[in-house]
Amino acid sequence: MSVKENLAHIYEQIDKACENCDRTRDDITIVAVTKYVSNERAKEAVEAGIQDLGENRKEGFLEKYEAIGDRARWHFIGSLQSRKVKEVIDYIDAIHSLDRKSLAKEINKRAQEPVDCFVQVNVSGEESKHGLAVDEVEDFIDMLKAYENVRVVGLMTMAPHTEEEERLRGVFRQLRALRDIIRDKHLPHAPCEHLSMGMSNDYAIAIEEGATHIRIGSKLVGG
Ligand SMILES: *Cc1c(COP(=O)(O)O)cnc(C)c1O
Repeated sequence: MSVKENLAHIYEQIDKACENCDRTRDDITIVAVTKYVSNERAKEAVEAGIQDLGENRKEGFLEKYEAIGDRARWHFIGSLQSRKVKEVIDYIDAIHSLDRKSLAKEINKRAQEPVDCFVQVNVSGEESKHGLAVDEVEDFIDMLKAYENVRVVGLMTMAPHTEEEERLRGVFRQLRALRDIIRDKHLPHAPCEHLSMGMSNDYAIAIEEGATHIRIGSKLVGG
């Protein structure tokens, strides 16, 4: 299937989900996750109208960035080693995986201007997942005010790999509730308005639960 065909189907699903929760398509940013596909396929996504691309490793990111450059906005969605920050920071529009102080410190040091960051939260508590525990997030974000180049625009989570809809909804709802608490503090360094949640198998549910950024790989570009 072409990216264009996949995207048409995804828009249909997005519109249905939006109807169920009184939102509109414009509230939602689709981040096309291109980590499994070629530069050509990533270009096809841009040509189909995708404006946001996501990569989860430094090497893949730099390769795609070289091929596509500023024709897209760039999201770094994977765990980022501190020592690699300097190699990618100038090209990244948003980091979805801020999960520790050492990374914040390095971003702060290397960035020329404030970088939009999502704090990654391990809502489901699975050991295999990155991210802060729910009860660590508020203190962590308070601490980030020391870093003027780190701007907390939202929270991100990876939902558990499950078909159980209620379990997924529970995870997304918890992230949203936490987002609401932080947003309502009106911290200058942490407007925290966004929710990066939902992937190929659960993006419609994530939208119904408030996602503003959905990260779609396999069902959009393949994988
Ligand atoms: C790979 C990946 C995705 C996309 O996964 P799909 O299931 O292929 O849509 C989203 N977010 C993160 C952090 C990823 O690593």
